[in-house]
Amino acid sequence: MNESSRTAAPARRAQRIAAIEVSEILRIGALAAERRRQGRPVIVLGAGEPDFDTPDHVKEAAIRAIRAGQTRYTALDGTPELKAAIQLKFKRENGLDYAIDEVTAGAGAKQVMFNAFMATLDPGDEVIMAAPYWTSYADIVLIAGGRPVPVRCSEGNGFRLQPQDLEAAITPRTRWLMLNSPSNPSGAAYTAQQLAPLLEVLERHPQVWLLSDDIYEHLLYDGQQFVTAAQLAPQLKARTLTVNGVSKSYAMTGWRLGYAGGPRSLLSAMAVVQSQSTSNPSSISQAAAVAALTGPQELVTQWRDAFQRRRDFVVAQLNAMPGVSCRRPEGAFYTFANCAGLIGRRAPDGRVIDSDAAFCRYLLEAHDVAVVPGSCFGLAPYFRISYAASDADLREACERIAVACAALH
Ligand code: PLP
Repeated sequence: MNESSRTAAPARRAQRIAAIEVSEILRIGALAAERRRQGRPVIVLGAGEPDFDTPDHVKEAAIRAIRAGQTRYTALDGTPELKAAIQLKFKRENGLDYAIDEVTAGAGAKQVMFNAFMATLDPGDEVIMAAPYWTSYADIVLIAGGRPVPVRCSEGNGFRLQPQDLEAAITPRTRWLMLNSPSNPSGAAYTAQQLAPLLEVLERHPQVWLLSDDIYEHLLYDGQQFVTAAQLAPQLKARTLTVNGVSKSYAMTGWRLGYAGGPRSLLSAMAVVQSQSTSNPSSISQAAAVAALTGPQELVTQWRDAFQRRRDFVVAQLNAMPGVSCRRPEGAFYTFANCAGLIGRRAPDGRVIDSDAAFCRYLLEAHDVAVVPGSCFGLAPYFRISYAASDADLREACERIAVACAALH
């Protein structure tokens, strides 16, 4: 290290990220990993990814792509083969007709959303999101210069946004509503009957666009039918971005491939952002995604059934714990349990559990289970468990959480 690098001032952060930290979920994951390195038997139920492996036929397609030399830059927002596969998927599963230039692919659904907000938000523009919301929603909006507007969705309403609350949150500065069904972190999903009144509100406000985050589409339980906004309200399709990806449905989180359907005017603006950031998503991942979207789909339903079984187990365990209650989520792979009954209690080491974050810290430090506080998602006091974990880990973790709760007085 030379003298100048030792004495250099720390990097000055730009205003646009001054209020944003690396996600709390990643921080908890890092803390858990550190404890594991110290030899602690930590169980992490914080991750937002399936514990299954990417299907073999998808891996093979990627290997074939490498061997065939598909290792160069591709068209900016997706190869013709991938765009055709996305188009087919929207038609087959959602009854949506998108032209080839009305679909786009990026390095994950996250990048697609980032593109959309960077492309459309001016300073102070507002984006409404149903709280609890996926943490990245608010942070992406902030980075793009917008203002996140969380609307509290109570447990009594199934954590679903209510039409009157949406109406009240809309201002002349509102540019977007974000909807996520099934939801991370609550697992709540909207039936057509529950979604329709929200879309009616949007119809009355033509300046508001809709971002429908359908990434957990295939993880919907008890036979509930998935419905997406543009399908239910075709009159809104011209101002709806329907976002999806292969991460959750096909156990492909590491491949970084997300996609969307939407109007050309929006997609061409999003292409500008992608062209000067990442350019195309990985050529290999695109070939893999074609195989995932057009290949056999049986695994998707097998995994869904496995997740439903785990949900039932975890919800039953949580509801048997003193001070905890948990609504049965309709989808995704998360439970969002209420821990209001634990707030104010004292742990054997003397610490007071004064928030959901304090409860989660106690669980990790005293019982080696990592879960995420509801406050990270804009709604407290709750904690989120990801049940995308092995049956053995879920059983052991639930036993530890039960012991942890019982030890509070
Ligand atoms: N949307 C929601 C609600 C998510 O929970 C996640 C990932 O956790 C994503 C989008 C991003 O998925 P991708 O891996 O495609 O970027």
